[in-house]
Amino acid sequence: MLHPQHIPSTLLKHPLLDELKVELEVLRLDQVHETVSGNKFFKLKYNLTEALQQNHRQVLTFGGAYSNHIYATAAAAKLAGLQSIGIIRGEVSDEKNPTLRSAKDAGMILKGLSRELYNDKTHSEFIDQLRQELGEFYLIPEGGTNALAIQGTTEILSHATAHFSHLATPIGTGGTFAGLANSILPQQELLGISALKGEGIQEEMKQLLQTHAIQPQGSLSIWTQYHQGGYAKWTSELIEFIHWFWESFGIPLDPIYTGKMAFACWDLLQKKYFKPGSRVLLIHTGGLQGNLGFTQRTGIELPSP
Ligand SMILES: *Cc1c(COP(=O)(O)O)cnc(C)c1O
Repeated sequence: MLHPQHIPSTLLKHPLLDELKVELEVLRLDQVHETVSGNKFFKLKYNLTEALQQNHRQVLTFGGAYSNHIYATAAAAKLAGLQSIGIIRGEVSDEKNPTLRSAKDAGMILKGLSRELYNDKTHSEFIDQLRQELGEFYLIPEGGTNALAIQGTTEILSHATAHFSHLATPIGTGGTFAGLANSILPQQELLGISALKGEGIQEEMKQLLQTHAIQPQGSLSIWTQYHQGGYAKWTSELIEFIHWFWESFGIPLDPIYTGKMAFACWDLLQKKYFKPGSRVLLIHTGGLQGNLGFTQRTGIELPSP
């Protein structure tokens, strides 16, 4: 159904890279598919196959009003011929919200849920109630991370990425990090840059790897100091970096995930974390659909592809 073809990548050229003898390349998951962008492509792939195999006609998931996951689930479900239902935190009445508008255009049924109810959304009584109201559905968790999602993200790396010494990804729920951890080679280091504030992510990732019996071949490091104030928060330094990155390399980034990840890696580069001869692959997990809504909310312009 959904098949990642060859994943494009962009080699970065900059005097600092020459000086430090570090190679930096960006794996463009933002370009794997026209409508199902980024890591969500990989996270949804086997979930939708499973939903079809179980003869479901609908998939249901949860997310915020600007969520990449909601956007991608709507698009991917449409391709798979499945009805999608999105349970949205807060109001869905904002006609101008580009994420919800795209989801709706792709055929997603949207239901707003108050923040209080939203917090209880994973309780089984609540899910049962939804089934009574909406009929049977295949449930995809918020953020999309489950065993089948990790099976999908395990396929991001391949023989084409075997020569890299370092791979870097943003972390949200960690499904992408887990799949990458599952497929790194013994000589590779995986850097996970947390988009959320707090140290809890370290333990959370340990748990996630344990739950899915992942024993990485290479080494892992999780970076918690690049959240820029917390999830979906930003600093002017981050916004400036995103513009600089676009002007220098022609690659658009988003301020929630990929901007923070690239910011972190450039900072680590400047601090000489990567030894001469390192070959570093930044995994661009997509998320560019969110830039429109970000600009609408904040008035801050961002580069768009
Ligand atoms: C969802 C998302 C992430 C986080 O992925 P997880 O698997 O939840 O860690 C990272 N980057 C982008 C652009 C995303 O949309």
